[in-house]
Amino acid sequence: MMPTTMQARCVFLGAPGAGKGTQAKRVAGMVDIAHISTGDMLREEGKSGSELGMEAKTYMDAGKLVPDQLIIDMVKSRIQKPDAASAWILDGFPRTLPQAEALDQNLSNDNALTHVISFAVPEAVLMGRLTGRRTCARCGAIWHIAHKPPAKAGICDNCGGELTQRSDDREEAIGKRLEVYRTQTAPLLAYYRDRGVLKEIDADRSPDIVFQELLTQMQ
Ligand code: AMP
Repeated sequence: MMPTTMQARCVFLGAPGAGKGTQAKRVAGMVDIAHISTGDMLREEGKSGSELGMEAKTYMDAGKLVPDQLIIDMVKSRIQKPDAASAWILDGFPRTLPQAEALDQNLSNDNALTHVISFAVPEAVLMGRLTGRRTCARCGAIWHIAHKPPAKAGICDNCGGELTQRSDDREEAIGKRLEVYRTQTAPLLAYYRDRGVLKEIDADRSPDIVFQELLTQMQ
């Protein structure tokens, strides 16, 4: 059993649909650690109608990455908040080499990265996971129309909220997002492997098994 507090400062790396968000939510539900999802933060900005949110949405809907500087500034201010003082999971950041370098520069020796976990899933599996993914508009719980259907179609079992499909979980955008992962994010595996902090998990298995392995890797 894991302690309820931990000093981990982790990056979760993986293609869209690899399960980073699902697993990060589970860890954060169990231990005192800030779950920082850049995708969720951008979607919140989009819903609020802020200028930043509107700018980001055009990139997101096209399956492209938002500009590095915008996301770097956002993460820098987020990890300075009190709830992220000692432990956090970065889910979906960094996604490019400049972002990884900016993160390194922003972390002192006292709060350096402790783990980089890569969730590996074959590309053919990712497409099915993404097209079937549904998210609760109220509590953010993640469902899947085939692999993890709610009891009542379109309704969240946890809170009764409406399930929605992310606008970038449509086939046109998914192809672009997978290409962006291959060309811009996958090179970070070598970047972190060279630094000796990379742990790789075979994430083409049930969420429960992946979670057990993740807990072992994060000890
Ligand atoms: P996610 O929810 O992590 O799949 O992210 C959804 C979308 O948000 C991505 O396809 C990008 O458009 C944008 N995004 C999230 N994180 C980043 C990042 N670190 N760098 C650039 N764009 C990002």
